[in-house]
Amino acid sequence: MTLLAVPIMVEGLDEALRAAILAGEHGADVVEYRVDRVADDVELVKTLVDRSPLPCLLTCRPTWEGGEYDGDDQQRISLIEAAGLVVRPPAYIDVELLAYERSANLRQKVHLVVEHEQQLRPVDAGLILSSHDFDGRPADLMRRVAAMVDTKACRVAKVAWRARSIRDNLEAFDLVRESAKPMIALCMGEFGLASRVLAKKFGAHLTFAALDDQSETAPGQPTLEQIKGLYRWDRIGPATKVFGVVGWPVGHSLSPAIHNAGFDAVDPERGSLKGDGGTVDFGYDGVYLPMPVAPGYEPFKASVGAWLDHETLDFRGASVTLPHKENLLRFVQERGGEIEALAARIGAANTLTVREDGSLLATNTDYAAALDALCDGLETTWEGLAGMRVGVLGAGGVSRALVAGLAHAGATVVIYNRTKERAEALAEAFNGTPTMLGAKAKVVPASIEKLCATCCEAIINATSVGMHPEVAASPVPQSLFEDQTRPRVVFDTIYNPLKTKLLQQAQAAGCRTITGDEMFIRQAAAQFEQWTTQPAPLTTFRQVMANALSPHKT
Ligand code: NAP
Repeated sequence: MTLLAVPIMVEGLDEALRAAILAGEHGADVVEYRVDRVADDVELVKTLVDRSPLPCLLTCRPTWEGGEYDGDDQQRISLIEAAGLVVRPPAYIDVELLAYERSANLRQKVHLVVEHEQQLRPVDAGLILSSHDFDGRPADLMRRVAAMVDTKACRVAKVAWRARSIRDNLEAFDLVRESAKPMIALCMGEFGLASRVLAKKFGAHLTFAALDDQSETAPGQPTLEQIKGLYRWDRIGPATKVFGVVGWPVGHSLSPAIHNAGFDAVDPERGSLKGDGGTVDFGYDGVYLPMPVAPGYEPFKASVGAWLDHETLDFRGASVTLPHKENLLRFVQERGGEIEALAARIGAANTLTVREDGSLLATNTDYAAALDALCDGLETTWEGLAGMRVGVLGAGGVSRALVAGLAHAGATVVIYNRTKERAEALAEAFNGTPTMLGAKAKVVPASIEKLCATCCEAIINATSVGMHPEVAASPVPQSLFEDQTRPRVVFDTIYNPLKTKLLQQAQAAGCRTITGDEMFIRQAAAQFEQWTTQPAPLTTFRQVMANALSPHKT
């Protein structure tokens, strides 16, 4: 079992004990008392360890290893010795490999309070030998690991380094998986989250999670609430399939919240049922993580390729967002995978799926999501869009997917964009392409000044005008809604805020409106169904989205 440890930077006894109680109440198995700041108060540390409500790990980290203790080694080792001999001693004592290797005196003192073969005292604290590198992977990482593993008194080997890309996590997984001794291998920083969350999948001895977002003790540490709630800690096991959102940046993506909640919703009691048709598995054993990948094809190819090629990661798919949507197409093509025809025509895909046979599929779930949302508003089907005039505002990436979908369905598409040339180029790319009914698509550019009430039955905004914080802006003049004839449906792809100025204008004029979250939820639902082959829990998706966006609701 992989333990969940909450580090507590100790300032005072009562405060630390309160934090430890809270950690236990929220599901931590162990607390790590970081006594760097109170190392001169031996009585405080002894009392804290003795009264700890959870098994504890005692650490006094020196500044030269990234901690805050700047005294000498003799004093801190005396502290560890004193705290190690209280009535209820620590479960673990952490000592840096470097300090342990360079001082025979330190080794001797540490050996007095930890369990090992020659130990004569009745102690069973385990020694964690550790090594931390805040710049990157140390060149002698393997030597350090070997030294820890070869040290008889060392119960758990711990290495942590700052990851330079999400590929670093893979080495952490392999170290854990292949170690002859209980192991903790963690990557620090924004690229290292996978090593922390998936520690359980690979059987690491423990992982760390902060009590709240103010108390992380290493860069990139998730909070206890995130690891338990968002990242499904209790459900993670050796067979858990891994998904993620590849982009730059991805820190604020809502996709992890949506997809992990989706896995939870289809997984009320994971297991299998015996029926007439044999044993049927139900529920879904998956976890979804942010996957930050720097811009450019090479970083994309190296990172996503390495995750796919890892033998035991079970990386089964990803949402792919800016700036990598074009890179996904090229990557899947180079790997001999399949590309959905319309995604190829759009020139961008947002979904990577690894099929059961290991082959890759790249699809674009944006255009279908937008079309479905529009059809709901118009109370029609994709076929019903044929011949209908739909105005698209904007000529960027989202517009391209919309125009492709609308042209495919046979709608007459009018593109209005600030930069005329972009509207013209986009229209030219899709005008005359075959529709799903075998006709030729009609896609034309038009000047935004010509947008009038009688122009279109539906208008879709795919510009960023009206997006937070410019919430008072609308991409169209008020006069558009003052005519007797007005668009039946107005759809804004923006979801922050949900009720944009454009939608407020449209609603006041009696038009039916569609908010941008509908498109987001449906593109996520299509991804979820491709990956899990189970119906997406739309109600859950909507709840998660509503909670995430509630501060921006107008
Ligand atoms: P993009 O490629 O950067 O395109 C932006 C478009 O907005 C361009 O056509 C640009 O016109 C236009 N624009 C920007 N500022 C403008 C201004 N001040 N006045 C007039 N036009 C302006 O962006 P994108 O990736 O297509 O995203 C567009 C919008 O889609 C985003 O704002 C986002 O809210 C929304 N979105 C929604 C979802 C969803 O699932 N609901 C997903 C992704 C994005 P020029 O060509 O003249 O520069």
